[in-house]
This record gives sequence, C-alpha cells and structure tokens, in this order.
Amino acid sequence: MPSVAGAERANVVRSPRHVIRPLVRLTLTSIAALAVAASTLASPAAAAPASDGGVRLHTNAELARTLARIERAADGRVNVRSVGTSNEGRPLWLATLGTGPVRLLYVTQQHGDEPLGTESAIHALRTLGLSDSASARRLRSKITLGILVRVNPDGHERNWRFNFDPDAQPEFGQAGQGYDINRYHNPEIAPEDNPVPEAAAIQRTYLAFRPSIVVDYHMQGRYVFPDGREITTSIFWPNNPDVSAPAVRASKQVAVRVHGAFTGERAVVSQYPGGDFRGIARNAYGLRGSASLLVELSSLPPERERFQVRTAYESMVDLAEAAGFGRLAGIDPAEADAIPLRGEELPGTGAATRDLEADAA
Ligand SMILES: [Zn+2]
Repeated sequence: MPSVAGAERANVVRSPRHVIRPLVRLTLTSIAALAVAASTLASPAAAAPASDGGVRLHTNAELARTLARIERAADGRVNVRSVGTSNEGRPLWLATLGTGPVRLLYVTQQHGDEPLGTESAIHALRTLGLSDSASARRLRSKITLGILVRVNPDGHERNWRFNFDPDAQPEFGQAGQGYDINRYHNPEIAPEDNPVPEAAAIQRTYLAFRPSIVVDYHMQGRYVFPDGREITTSIFWPNNPDVSAPAVRASKQVAVRVHGAFTGERAVVSQYPGGDFRGIARNAYGLRGSASLLVELSSLPPERERFQVRTAYESMVDLAEAAGFGRLAGIDPAEADAIPLRGEELPGTGAATRDLEADAA
C-alpha cells in the first residue's frame, strides 16, 4: 500500500470502498502537494485555500492550463478538447478517459456562480486518468468517462448564474445578463436551433458520446433537517412524467450509489425538490433514456468548501467504479425514495442564498 498520511490512516471508515486506492485515499491537500512535488502536474491554484479559508478556484485561464497539463501527464490516457465556445469565445472543455463500454458524462458549473463541482472534477480527472496502477488500467478498460468541465466560463468570469448574452430577452434567464443554460436541454430543441451555445454544446456532446449515465453538478443554498443537522448535499433524479420507467429506475440506482458515496464521507444528504420541466438537464437526459442525476452541493462557509469539494470528488470516482464494475444493477431503486426530503432553509441565510434558492435545477 502506498504511503498514506497518518490522519488518513486513522480514518479507516471511509477508505476501503474504492478500487483506485492510491490517490483516492489521499486528502485533497496531499493530492495538491503531490502534484506540486511532481511539478509536471503543478497547478498553482488547485484546491489551495483562498484568503478566507475557502477553496481557491481556478480562473478560466488556469483551468485551461491545468487541463492541458493533465492531458500531457496522462500520456495518452486523457484527451482534452473544446466542444464549443461561449458567446465571448471561451472554449468549452470536454475531458475524456477510458476505452470501456460503460459511458458516463459528468457536467459541472452550468451556473457560473456554482463552482465547486469543477474543482472536484479536476481532482477526479487526475485520479482516474493519471494512475498507471493495474486497478486504474482495469477501470479504464471498463468505462469511458467524459467530463464537461465548467460549461459556463462566461458566467464564472462574472460570478453569476447565467451565460453572457446581454442583448437576449430570454424566456429563462435575465435580460441584460444572459440565459439560464440549465433550461435549454429540452430534447425537442435541436442543438442548431438552441439559442444557448453552452447548452447546445452539452446536447451535441451527449448525442456524440451516448452516455448511459449523466450527472450534473450544481450548488444550492443552506438547509437543515428537522433534527437540526445541516444538509451538505441534495440529489435528485428525473421526475418528468414522460421519462421511461427504465430510465427512472436506472437514475434511482445511480442516486442510491451516489447517496452512499457522499454519506460514507460524512456528508448529510437529502432529496432535492426539483420540478419536472423538460429543459432541465436532469429531466432532459432522462427523457433521452439515460440514467440522470442532479447533485447540489450546499453553499457552506469557506472553511467547509474543501469538504464539499472532497465529497463530490469521492462520489465522482466511486460512481465511475461502481458503473464500470457492474455494481449498479443490483441496487434496489426504491432506496432512493427513502432518502429524506430537503428541510427548511438555515435561519438567517435567506438573503445570502436567494439567488441560489431560485435554482430549482
Ligand atoms: Zn445550479
């Protein structure tokens, strides 16, 4: 077994689940340290604390450089390419790895001000793409994973929810700002007719990639269960009535697995009270027949952002392994319905979370 930090060694309860152990058993801190030590992987901002104790986010330029570094270091095991451009000409990055028949697509940061899933995805790319261990090679022979990393770079640049299209009069979005990307995935809208280039790029990627599983990473406000525990994560599957029973079943199996991965990391997980609109990715890719899941990380205080990034990262790696090694089919989908409903908003956070609350993604 490779060396593991003492603090991690002591924390035996959360380690043994993964097949890809060497990197997964490390904390993000030690992953970043390793990356720096290896220098080829050095990404100056990766998960380093920001001045307020939170996660220092990759700028768009840093993200491009980091993805390029990962691709180079992966020596052919990771491919990074642009699958479109934002209205301001920023590339929309798709990173892929693996050659296997089980195809998964992760999407991060459709909403520009919901950034943490992007940081998790960068770490997942490193873990799944860079390791040359036998277990990592075996997993890559079972899966093909695509990650659309930060599909709203213009929104990220402005730290707002929408894309950048100030002349638009969007049905879903904000005049003077842009469209809400996560309302424009309706399967009846062809990509070439889609007014939202980021959503069109996701649609095209989906159609070319043909994933059996799609997971879409967002962020929400702050909520508590009736017993007072703060919810760190909410998840939900397609609930549009036209989604086929097999797709709902498969989505719930993914939900149960992802729920287990998060709670295994001490996350506190609820269902997300999402609507049935067909244009939301969660519903749209379910309507197209995939297992589809929404993951919402709560906007916890800065000192807990690293926890949020780590739990989402663990769930990304865990789901890839579970799908690759056939561990989803045996899951009882009814267990998803037993995931508790989201509780009340954390008192006093209303103003701070108002924009995120409008999510309903
Ligand atoms: Zn969102």
